[in-house]
Amino acid sequence: MGKFEDLRQQMIDYQLEMRGLRDKTVLDAVKAVPREEFVPTELVEFAYSDTPLPIEASQTISQPYIVALMTAALELKPEDKVLEVGTGSGYAAAVLAEIANEVYTIERHRILADSARERLEKLGYKNVKVLHGDGTLGWPEHAPFDAIIVAAGGPDVPETLKEQLAVGGRMVIPVGSSLHTQKLVRIRRISETKFEEEDLGSVRFVPLVGAAGWEDETATKAAETIAKAEATLPELVYESSEHFSSIDEVNLDKLMERIGDSKLVLLGEASHGTAEFYDMRARITKELIEKKGFNVIAVEADWPDAAHIDNYIKGNEPDPLLSKEPFSRFPTWMWANHSVLEFTHWLKQHNQTITAANQKVGFYGLDLYSLFSSIDVVLEYLQKVDPKTAEIARTRYGCLMPWASEPALYGQVALTKQYRECEQDVVSTLQDILEKRIEYTRADGDKYFNVQQNARLVANAERYYRTMYYAEANSWNQRDQHMFETLEAILDYRESHSNNVDDVKAVIWEHNSHIGDARATQMSARGELNIGQLSREKYGEKAYLIGFGTDHGTVAAASEWGGPMEVKQVQPSHIDSYERVCHETPTDNFLLPLRQAYNPETKKRLLVERLERAIGVIYRPDTELQSHYFYASLPRQFDEYIWFDETNAVKPLTKESVKGLPDTFPFGL
Ligand code: SAM
Repeated sequence: MGKFEDLRQQMIDYQLEMRGLRDKTVLDAVKAVPREEFVPTELVEFAYSDTPLPIEASQTISQPYIVALMTAALELKPEDKVLEVGTGSGYAAAVLAEIANEVYTIERHRILADSARERLEKLGYKNVKVLHGDGTLGWPEHAPFDAIIVAAGGPDVPETLKEQLAVGGRMVIPVGSSLHTQKLVRIRRISETKFEEEDLGSVRFVPLVGAAGWEDETATKAAETIAKAEATLPELVYESSEHFSSIDEVNLDKLMERIGDSKLVLLGEASHGTAEFYDMRARITKELIEKKGFNVIAVEADWPDAAHIDNYIKGNEPDPLLSKEPFSRFPTWMWANHSVLEFTHWLKQHNQTITAANQKVGFYGLDLYSLFSSIDVVLEYLQKVDPKTAEIARTRYGCLMPWASEPALYGQVALTKQYRECEQDVVSTLQDILEKRIEYTRADGDKYFNVQQNARLVANAERYYRTMYYAEANSWNQRDQHMFETLEAILDYRESHSNNVDDVKAVIWEHNSHIGDARATQMSARGELNIGQLSREKYGEKAYLIGFGTDHGTVAAASEWGGPMEVKQVQPSHIDSYERVCHETPTDNFLLPLRQAYNPETKKRLLVERLERAIGVIYRPDTELQSHYFYASLPRQFDEYIWFDETNAVKPLTKESVKGLPDTFPFGL
């Protein structure tokens, strides 16, 4: 199979079938259409991604799943005659033409109609006719149609289209009172006069513009109103924010007041490689520790790696039971960088001023990518305290050992049943450890807690790698659920050693995509949740969520997973983004309170969804819009937003830069 056939098959398996779309006729049709021929050349590598893509005339080729879902909802038969409104690239028309006898498709943009016609002809589709015109009027010469599919969202179901539907025919159309969000509706014509309507769920399509759709003028007016609002929104943001010149000089008193008696403060970042985000989070965390008694720092790093920092800042002796070479896994610069190093030194000094061990600030990792170093920690610990149980655990964990160098491969082979699943083995080991809590804790409670979390991580990581292969959203959720459960376990543990549970308070450092409430972003449409959402659901107003953003500068990131760190230029932000609004304010750095906004009008205007940029450990400036932007409603996502107009890449630690540091130093370089 060629590369695209492979990708197409994966798309069918993981985006369509796994979501429950099992209609063989539709799956075969999708399999027959080369989607890569319908997307702009520069986006070919994303042709089979689970997303719509931009095409000419500011329109889109729909997400593969939506095309398949709508096609299935049409219940097509080989002899059917179909009308499509909104040809776009012609992709959906090709899928329809694989099943039905005749396809008539109408597109209002001439350039799209012409290129779709040419493309479909070139690919040999002889049963498709493309018309340039207003599809809301239908195509009366060829009516009635057995099925009508509308690929753009209108305010109502156009009467003309209903009239052109044959008795017994089905129409699938997005309908909604706003220009961009709709519900998908299926209409069946039962008789000359009777129609039945069913709701198939929420969708987001480009507007249907035409005689029985949105007026061209309405769309232009709406665009103009938005444009007008945009002109003043940066001014409103300027008036509603606290400006500062540098991280050293920023006055955080008002922020501390807004945080009040929150138990959790979640600090985001808009990339995994920007020094200002790390330094500002360190600055805020120091104040939270000093002024409000925060004593837990939980970060998006693996448990066994963070345990080294915890050990170091608490001034403990080097612990032979800790993992080897911490922070040496890709992406090393995320934690082994100068900003984190400086903060680590500060934490160590701070902890020296605290005598009671249970009040020292602790540093913990919430992530689960350390499957094998966690296994090592568990086995070494058991070997010391309970060699018999260690032997059983070693045999059980042996199930995963063939995949030590590439755990993701385990998920693949387990899924295809080429290898047995190790779930029972890892869960049984965790159960053994939990059952022996009292016995093991007698020797050393902290060590037991560390090992129990490692065993928990192994169990959750095993499941994570297995689900990664068939359900992206599901594995994302498992990871964030693991992070939230780990946070809860840390809080419980610290609370059990504290006189007052309210004395235990945590700062969480993770990417914006984890800490901003998922319900306010496109993630929720994919069924994804995150630690920000889970924190709000459990702690309500006692969780304070702070997002970060930037316009341009440099960032440390790789070009592909596992690739070397590069210092890349961050592109100036997209015109429709929140970042652009912030960039246009006449100041460089600011804190923008959103939960308690200085001006309710600012919050109201910001609530309207815009694009937001997320750079991870990978940054692809060339395909930025596709790879890094998503829609969100900023004031619903965060309680506060911190802006740095220009930012710089983090500086990674090197062997040279850490020369002379003590043995207990927590970064394995
Ligand atoms: N089915 C397309 C594909 O596979 O590429 C995707 C279509 S895109 C989501 C919606 C298309 O509907 C746009 O190309 C837009 O120009 C078109 N459109 C909007 N209103 C229309 C109308 N009244 N008549 C015809 N086309 C319309």
